[in-house]
Amino acid sequence: MNDATTPNRPSPPRAASRQLRNGSIVGCGPRLRNGGDSGPPLRQQVFEHVRAEGQATRSQITRSLGISGGMVTQLTADLIRSGLLEEMADTDRQTSRETARGRPPTALGVVPESGRVLGLKLSEDVHTAVITDFAGVEHGSATRPSGRRPSGLDALSEEVAALVDQALSNAAGPSTVPLVAIGLGLPGLVKHEEGTVAWSPLLSQRNAPLKAALEARLGLPVHVDNDVNMLSLAELWFGAGRWKSDFAVVTIEQGVGMGLVLGNQLYRGARGMGLELGHTKVQMDGALCRCGRRGCLEAYVADYALLREAATALDSDGLGPVAPEDMLDRLFGQAKAGNRAAATIFRRAGRYLSLGLSNVVQLFDPELIILSGARMRYDYLYAEEVLAEMTAQALDDQRPPVRVEIHAWGDLVWARGATALALSVETDRLLGDPALA
Ligand SMILES: [Zn+2]
Repeated sequence: MNDATTPNRPSPPRAASRQLRNGSIVGCGPRLRNGGDSGPPLRQQVFEHVRAEGQATRSQITRSLGISGGMVTQLTADLIRSGLLEEMADTDRQTSRETARGRPPTALGVVPESGRVLGLKLSEDVHTAVITDFAGVEHGSATRPSGRRPSGLDALSEEVAALVDQALSNAAGPSTVPLVAIGLGLPGLVKHEEGTVAWSPLLSQRNAPLKAALEARLGLPVHVDNDVNMLSLAELWFGAGRWKSDFAVVTIEQGVGMGLVLGNQLYRGARGMGLELGHTKVQMDGALCRCGRRGCLEAYVADYALLREAATALDSDGLGPVAPEDMLDRLFGQAKAGNRAAATIFRRAGRYLSLGLSNVVQLFDPELIILSGARMRYDYLYAEEVLAEMTAQALDDQRPPVRVEIHAWGDLVWARGATALALSVETDRLLGDPALA
């Protein structure tokens, strides 16, 4: 996840066109997968296993998936014929145990050039794009300031088209590799299945058919989802969530968001709009939230909640107009410098956050909670007291407290999660039809 992506990166040599970490080939996608009858078709399971491992021999696939060697030979031959898997020339990296037996078995890997996808993260400040190939390797990125907010669907589509052009011109590597799909995450209430946006701070229109508008403008399949779901997919495909079957991602940006992975899959709720942690109630008749209700978690933790009281703590008379972001930084600096009123504002936000997190623990029993988002630079949000309070609020079940990690990733990682969405949907489209398996 920490790999830096630089625009205009030169084309990597063929052998290095795989994800490497400490010199070893790593794959992408969830490492754990529910197989068996309820899983996807076997052909897809084989492909996803190889992609997740980065490389795998036929015997490793046989062992991992618990299917016969003959079946693996047949399925891998089919995937090689389809141009999705290839036998890898570099056998040095294969396990020494297998090479010690004599002629080394040939490892299989995903053909990176079988396609590329583009991931986009739209936000109120800046839009970000990343291009990734089918093996999960990045091939360029782009960012551009977002336009006036909120805007109409046509204006937003134009902004997206400009960003896509910019990312494509920054992309390294052979331009003949087709761009097959786009994944896009944005804040708000997004119906992933329909491709519509019920509400977003980026759009002036409610129930906007964003998927249809972008597909018409760009001529490619576009898959849209809530931005926090994209961040959760980034963790599931490329980050700390690859080895976890159940984990939650909680973000604090302009609002409070949550993504949830259950059984190695993103959970969206029956209508695709669940997990609005920011609008769960933590106080009856409490502070007014921007949603119009009272007592929402967001009304105590989000930027606007802190800013509501900042003016008093900072004695801001005579400061002139200050951007909200600068005001928050100033408030944080004051809290650190010993301003007790400023420190109280942050401490209260931290206590409410601990309440929200303990509710997440109580409801979902996750293996891991990842706290993410730009506000994670304010360490009061993950102070020891906050995490201790979270544990204290939850039932004492004699187990160690749930693990909490802080990932203050930038927008690039959210966009990378959008590539995972596109890869996931495209894999289902290419391999998920049982009639073809
Ligand atoms: Zn609310």
